Amino acid sequence: MRKSQRGQSEQSIQTRLLQAIFEQRMPPGARLTEEALASAFDVSRTTIRQVIARLSQDGILVKLPNGATHVASPSRHEAQQLMVVRRMIEPEIVKILASKAADICFDELSAHLNDEDRARRDGDRGSLVRLTGEFHLHLVRLTGNQVLIRLMTELQALVCLAILLYANGDDGCPVQEHRRIVTAIKKQDGASAANLMLSHLEHIERDLKLDEKPVLHISEALTWLGQREASLARS
Ligand SMILES: [Zn+2]
Repeated sequence: MRKSQRGQSEQSIQTRLLQAIFEQRMPPGARLTEEALASAFDVSRTTIRQVIARLSQDGILVKLPNGATHVASPSRHEAQQLMVVRRMIEPEIVKILASKAADICFDELSAHLNDEDRARRDGDRGSLVRLTGEFHLHLVRLTGNQVLIRLMTELQALVCLAILLYANGDDGCPVQEHRRIVTAIKKQDGASAANLMLSHLEHIERDLKLDEKPVLHISEALTWLGQREASLARS
């Protein structure tokens, strides 16, 4: 009994930490301590250690050799790799759903799309970013495939962190694209659903601006400034 209660609280802490990431409230690179988390959630450090271990395994938290833990801060290269994997699996997810659309209850997904519309209409950016991310997790949950669900949750959390780092003025997924994907799934048109998902992911990737040159290193900036000063002095 005690064991299951403890297990449950670990799960709920993990869910709340992931939610903070999905709502983009968790800054990438932020340092987390066992003490601070144990006090925030009012649980033992042993419980927190389990949560940290699990999220570290998923790459969402990073444990450093000195014992400190940081929220992951994916590089542009890592973010690109995450999007490559999403492009591989998410079109397949919607194909699976289209193939069994007759047996799927779409009520929750439809309600979710309405929530997205409402958040967009109300200009509620925080909710919109979380909801548009959760849409992708809703889809994978409908497959019932636990491996895919775990993989997508991890990918989604890391992409949320990358969005915080690299997207300019992100407002969630492009308008109406989710609705078109769901319509194709409901029509059992797997090929269209997969194509729509692929172009949707390409739009997300484009908004992430992963192709932009990274910020120059400070030494390069100083060299540039030195050369500029020298040329100004000559003129
Ligand atoms: Zn989306």
